[in-house]
Amino acid sequence: MKSTKIIVEHTKLGKQRIWGDADNNIIRIDSRLKGKKHLEIMIHEALHILHPRMSEEKVVKNSVILCNLLWEHDYRRVENTNTIHLQDGTI
Ligand SMILES: [Zn+2]
Repeated sequence: MKSTKIIVEHTKLGKQRIWGDADNNIIRIDSRLKGKKHLEIMIHEALHILHPRMSEEKVVKNSVILCNLLWEHDYRRVENTNTIHLQDGTI
């Protein structure tokens, strides 16, 4: 099986009225998404990459199932944002 490295980019997608999309192993996720919804969209877009012929209905159903499974077992995203400088000028 060919290995697939999926790259995730966070960007504002509001104008396109979508939370995420996937193309050529790159997932774009709206940068304002947090928590459980972020997890759902990441799984949803990954399923599109891994199963390109899967129907949208099935992608939605499976992403919600996987999202609920991981969330109920306490998988959470660590917030690692450190783009604002500390008082000594360092990051
Ligand atoms: Zn979709």
